[in-house]
Amino acid sequence: MKRIGVLTSGGDAPGMNAAVRAVVRKAIYQGVEVYGIYQGYQGLITGQIEKMEVGSVGDIIHRGGTMLRSARCQEFVTKEGQLKGIQQLKALGIEGLIVIGGDGSYRGAKALTELGFPCIGVPGTIDNDIPGTDFTIGFDTALNTVIDAIDKIRDTASSHERTFVVEVMGRNAGDLALWAGLSGGAETILIPEDPFDMDSIKDRLLKGHERGKRHSIIIVAEGVMSGNEFAKKLEEETQFDTRVSVLGHMQRGGSPTAVDRMLASRLGARAVELLIEGKGGRTVGIEKNQLVDYDISEALAMPHQLDLDIYRLSKELSI
Ligand code: ADP
Repeated sequence: MKRIGVLTSGGDAPGMNAAVRAVVRKAIYQGVEVYGIYQGYQGLITGQIEKMEVGSVGDIIHRGGTMLRSARCQEFVTKEGQLKGIQQLKALGIEGLIVIGGDGSYRGAKALTELGFPCIGVPGTIDNDIPGTDFTIGFDTALNTVIDAIDKIRDTASSHERTFVVEVMGRNAGDLALWAGLSGGAETILIPEDPFDMDSIKDRLLKGHERGKRHSIIIVAEGVMSGNEFAKKLEEETQFDTRVSVLGHMQRGGSPTAVDRMLASRLGARAVELLIEGKGGRTVGIEKNQLVDYDISEALAMPHQLDLDIYRLSKELSI
């Protein structure tokens, strides 16, 4: 393989730039030309494609977002859209594509591979909900952003003896809520994977109050319900003075942590190796700190597993 492409797609995540940098530099190091495709699959269809040099990815390793920009593209879900994309790549002599994104982006990469164009999926999303890897690029940075917010909320919560409901991202996966809740010392964590029981939440809040706790922090993953909705329910059933913080898109931004930069660099470089080895249609990931790869269809069929040990521990430590 002498010429490859790289794009970022779907929801952006801090560390995507570090992954693009790794792809570009590793490819050039191996004597392979690299093309950057702007605006994800949208730019693939319309041909927003530029040759990348070593310097094209200079000064981006510490930046959030993605220099290649991202997009959602309905047209690409159709076979016609996918064939247009392949045409654009072939016109430039590009023989393989690295897709950095979430599971929707993986489905696009799978579709291209099935049409005979080899792709590699690199997991980039703050949700940590991609199968075939313990961690996704962006999760650690988002986690640190949420913890920073929780720490600040805790200061004001304890000054005013309030219960704070903090809504974090996570439509289908509770990883961010769980990890942030455990490491931020939250009293209660609500995740989409486990239906909550209002009576036991009330019980826990009252017990805490009785033993003199001056504040409580409840983390709600957006996939459970909105923070405002939950606070309303809680206020209907208790006398606690409740406030809500919706962290929103700030969770997607910021300079990537060292952990995310390392992960992005390792996964990006491994994706290039796989293409060079002629192994298209795979995803890269990390398991027990070792790089792994899976067939993209198999990876997409694997359910994302919440770490149940961590979930149990979060309950034990928030008594
Ligand atoms: P993420 O990659 O973060 O999960 P999306 O689910 O929005 O984000 O997917 C990103 C893009 O991937 C979509 O806008 C679409 O262009 C493409 N995509 C999603 N699902 C499919 C599919 N089943 N087949 C082909 N392309 C898809």
